[in-house]
Amino acid sequence: MGVSERIYLSQPHMTGKESEYIDQAFQTNQLTLFGQHIEEFENRMSEYLDGRHVVAVNSGTSALHLALRYAGVGPGDYVLCSSFTFVASCSPVTFLGGRLIFVDSDESWNMSPAALEKALEWADGHSITIKAAVVVDIYGQPAKYDDILPLLKERGITVIEDAAESLGAYYQTKKCGTIGDYSALSFTSNKLITTGGGGGMVVSADEEAIRKMRFWAAHAKEVRPYHEHHDYGYEYRLPNLLAGIGCTQVDRIEAYSERRRMIFRKYAQELEGYPVDMMPEVQGSRPNHWLSTMTLEAGYNSMQFMDYMNTHNIETRMAWKPMHLQELYKKELYFTDGDKDVSADLFRRGICLPSASVMSDEQLDYVIDKIKIFFERI
Ligand SMILES: *Cc1c(COP(=O)(O)O)cnc(C)c1O
Repeated sequence: MGVSERIYLSQPHMTGKESEYIDQAFQTNQLTLFGQHIEEFENRMSEYLDGRHVVAVNSGTSALHLALRYAGVGPGDYVLCSSFTFVASCSPVTFLGGRLIFVDSDESWNMSPAALEKALEWADGHSITIKAAVVVDIYGQPAKYDDILPLLKERGITVIEDAAESLGAYYQTKKCGTIGDYSALSFTSNKLITTGGGGGMVVSADEEAIRKMRFWAAHAKEVRPYHEHHDYGYEYRLPNLLAGIGCTQVDRIEAYSERRRMIFRKYAQELEGYPVDMMPEVQGSRPNHWLSTMTLEAGYNSMQFMDYMNTHNIETRMAWKPMHLQELYKKELYFTDGDKDVSADLFRRGICLPSASVMSDEQLDYVIDKIKIFFERI
């Protein structure tokens, strides 16, 4: 790709093998919500995820909805969630009528174990039982599971890992997407790998759980020669055509993460000495750096930065606006560690940079050059 085209934050990275799968789906007339490419995609993903059980669905949001329902979340039930995330981490709690308790971030940008303790002390003090926690690996950085999991486990809280952004990342020796009781993945077009549009997956070591979620994802049909229903479900299946595209991407997970990590390292090296700080890496973990992100030092304005990059046809974006600051969720509980609101500060100063694995070295150099010029001119 030349530098005259717009450079995006993240884009699908096709392999060239897609048309084979698409043609095959046409030839066998499997333009359906079941079929051999769904099976192949699930088998390949299960193999990549160390033999975990999986069910392919039509979005990461659907995956989180199924997992939260399986965790038993219902009307009035409390669920913990990082505030610094995309709304889909917690909107499924709202679908189920649950209540949210938002938790601030620490220097990892993920759920702060200290703020989590504050939330748990509050719940213990009010004799409130918490059903589940959605722990997010934001921008592909694994959360601090060694600190977080024991706090949740000792209270019997189900852990749902939102690994929508972290496929290909590792927490110590564990792959992201295998850490929660249930983990959710997303294959929407801007994620690490894509099914060529919407797509998602629930991952778990619990085979029975996956069986139940598969049942719910296809209208909860009892096995009968007619349509018999004892429970309600959804239409959350992944089309076979899209699963075929997914099949071509699974063996690229490691390479695409490596490319995104390399892009992050390049930004970090080149921007050393400029008034920015790259997202810090948690010790012992290997983020995939789905999006390379940085914070601007005090005195710099993110709108001004983004406008400047835009005039050079480069897409950048502010960091996630935390959920506790959203009109939708401002009445929900929010816990920080002390007086500082870390996630609100990340929103004010955080910038996401072009990070697509398909981006060329030439494009990356062009972006870096423009960032440098922005700070040199100001
Ligand atoms: C993308 C994303 C989701 C939702 O995935 P969809 O496939 O778009 O429904 C959930 N959580 C986070 C953190 C995400 O980035």
